[in-house]
Order: sequence, then C-alpha cells, then structure tokens
Amino acid sequence: MKNKVPYRIYLSEEQIPKYWYNMRADMKNLPAPLLNPGTLQPLVEAELTPVFPTACVKQELDNTTRYIEIPEPVREMYKIYRPSPMIRAYNLEKYLDTPAKIYYKFEGNNTSGSHKLNSAIAQAYYAKEQGLKSLTTETGAGQWGTAMSEACAYFGLDLTIYMVKCSYEQKPFRKSVMGVFGGKVISSPSNTTEVGKRILAENPGTTGSLGCAISEAVEKAVATDSCRYVLGSVLNQVLLHQSIIGLESKIALEMYDEYPDIIIGCAGGGSNLGGLIAPFIQDKLLGKTNPEIIAVEPASCPSLTRGRYAYDFCDTGKITPMAKMYTLGSGFIPSSNHAGGLRYHGMSPILSQLYDDGYMKATSVGQTKVFDAATLFSRLETILPAPESAHAIYTAIEEAKKCKESGEAKTILFGLTGTGYFDMTAYQSYMDNTMNDYIPTDEDLQKGFDTLPKV
Ligand SMILES: *Cc1c(COP(=O)(O)O)cnc(C)c1O
Repeated sequence: MKNKVPYRIYLSEEQIPKYWYNMRADMKNLPAPLLNPGTLQPLVEAELTPVFPTACVKQELDNTTRYIEIPEPVREMYKIYRPSPMIRAYNLEKYLDTPAKIYYKFEGNNTSGSHKLNSAIAQAYYAKEQGLKSLTTETGAGQWGTAMSEACAYFGLDLTIYMVKCSYEQKPFRKSVMGVFGGKVISSPSNTTEVGKRILAENPGTTGSLGCAISEAVEKAVATDSCRYVLGSVLNQVLLHQSIIGLESKIALEMYDEYPDIIIGCAGGGSNLGGLIAPFIQDKLLGKTNPEIIAVEPASCPSLTRGRYAYDFCDTGKITPMAKMYTLGSGFIPSSNHAGGLRYHGMSPILSQLYDDGYMKATSVGQTKVFDAATLFSRLETILPAPESAHAIYTAIEEAKKCKESGEAKTILFGLTGTGYFDMTAYQSYMDNTMNDYIPTDEDLQKGFDTLPKV
C-alpha cells in the first residue's frame, strides 16, 4: 500500500525529463504538411529557415524522431522553475463530495505566469546557438511576450514584440513586465511594417488581433538581418517543447500508482493540452491504455467544436504558410472574451488530426460559467487561475459531478496553465455582472468560413 498522496507531489531536479516526446512518431495519421500559399506545395526546410531559427524548423518538420534531447542550457533554465507541482485538489473534491480524485499540474510558478516559458526557453536557446542577434514575436494577452522576454534576457538576445492594440491599452503592466526583461513592445497594428500600414489604412479604428500581430512580426523578422520570428503555440515544435508538462505529470502520478482516466485542458492554439497529453496519448496510440481526453474552448471562439477541418492561413494578413487545422477562418473575429489566450481562429495541426481521428473530444463553455468555476477554485485551492485555465477547471468540476452521480472513483487530471493576476479587469467585470456571454451565430461563423482559402 502506497502512502497517502500529499497535497503537492514534488519531483526532484534530477527527475526533470532529459528528452521531449514527439507525438508524431507514434501517430498513424500524421498532421497534414504546411503548404506554401503561392505554389500550394508542402513547405521544405529552405523556405522556412528565413523565418524561424533553423533548429526549430528541423523540429517542425520532424515526424519520426520519437525522443528529442533537451539541450543542457535549456534544462538548466528549466531548473529555475521546474519541476512544476502536481497538486491533488483535496479541497475541491471535498466540496464537490465526489468519489473522483482530482489532480492538476500547475504551470503558473514563473514570472510569465503560464506554461509558455517552456517553449520560449527552447526557441531562444536555438536562436542564440545559431548566432542570431534578435527575434520578433507577437503577443495577445501578454503571457507569451513575457515568456519570450524572460528567455531572451537569459540568453542575451534582442526581442521586439507586437502586442495586440486592445491588450496594449488594457494591460499596461504586462507591457512594463516585458520592458523590465528588455523586450521592446509595439502596439499592433503599427506603422513599422507594410502589412501594419495597410491594415491601418483599411481600418483606422481597429484594435488589432493576434492574426494581424503575427503578420507584422513575421514581416519584421524577414526584413531584419540576423533576426528570426518565434511563435508560442499551434506549431508542432511548440507542442514538442510542452511535452515536458505531460512527462513530468506521468512521473509524479506513477510515484503514487495513479493514472488518469480523464485528461482535461483548455485549448487556444493547443500547446498546453498537446503537452499535457503527450505521454498519455502515446499509451493510447499504442493501445496500452485508453484515457478520455477533453479539450475545452470558449463558446465565443469554438474552433474544434464548430470549426472546419481545412487548410487556412495562420494570420490575418495571409502572409504565413497554410496549415490544415480545425479553424474558424483567419478572418473570424471573436466577440470580446477575457481569455485572450484562447481567442485564436485555428488549432494545432497535431491536435486537429488527433481530434479528427477520434482520440480526443472537445467541449465549449460560456464566459460567466468559467468565472464561476475560477472563483470557486480560488477560494478552495488558494490559487487565482488565469481565465484560460479556468476553462479546464470548469470541465474538471463537471466530470467530478458526473462521478458523484455514477459513484465512479475516476482519476481526473487537468492542466492549470497559469495565474490570473493580470486579469483583474476580467474578474471585476464578473463580480460587477457586466460579463459578455455572446455566442456566435451560424451566420457569424459563416463570415469567417468565407475567408478560408480555396485549396
Ligand atoms: C496562451 C495560454 C493558453 C492557451 O494556449 P495553448 O497554446 O492552447 O495552450 C492557456 N492558458 C494560458 C495561461 C496561456 O497563457
């Protein structure tokens, strides 16, 4: 008989995995390749290396190497804030009076306040190793820009961040944090790029979007010497780096003979969920176990639950490669929602393929219910969650309630991706009852689908 599971299962520094796991090596149906929008042919390495650091391009295109070694300098920086804790939600279980066992992997224990640092460190390291001087990127809610600023400060690289204008204005302190780490923040759309000028001319009052900021950051990187572009979600390489979350989770649970029956994660571009499920989906792909996997998205931006599985652009300016993914169309503009990290029109090609093949499910939830769950969770578990993360909390609670009805003592694991300290406007709006729960109509969605390229 094992000891009682503690509130927090801590791994030692030595237990931080030495390899990332590449799910593609075990997938029967691989995600469709990125296409060159001009020729509609699969992109080759030489077309991507002017945009991304070369080692990142190799990882992006590598469908066969099962385990990829984590470079020692990356592991050294991981040690500053990892292993991240695996927490047993005893208080939540007790409150729900459920026989279910609820675990969450908490990724908010670093200044960026989210899991994004796991991939930012890797991408900055590869850029430095290649001898590059600077990087560009975009940020919506601000977590990715902060994570990249931390990583670039650590490895000594300059960083320019295109921050979606509405966040730039609503979250001045996010901008300050990036500034402390040396990141140069530009409100997007801006007049520092051709695509920014074009978007401003067409639509002077625009408050920007993630897709538009991506267009600007890519243009800037390609036009600058010794500079490349980095992206914080969606891409295969990002899911690879985030597999550290799932690998650590599996080790922690094994120490107490536990294995999840249900794995839940919020899904914006799919990186935290892809990372959390990685070693468990390997078991599932190999037919060893069959955990239920649930992606949770906002009802206002339902790419898996209501989107199309089609080739689409990754940005609004349509200058990026095309990816086959569940998408709402690069022209889709979601109604205002406080989970900024979940407001992207598309979904990781890897997760899209797994979803299409029936390896995972998806559900969507409205904003007010998400904040009900976030508030309850804060009071019981003492962590103030990011609005994005609270989508997973909501669904974990729903599943635990089902266990109460059926009497089944299932083991539930969910990803608590980050903290919500920069989201107090959102929490205040929830407390003031001014939250918007708009769900797009089929006509709203059709406008986005109309922007899909004809491939
Ligand atoms: C960015 C972000 C997300 C969503 O991104 P994924 O790539 O889907 O993981 C979720 N939670 C937090 C805290 C984030 O910063």
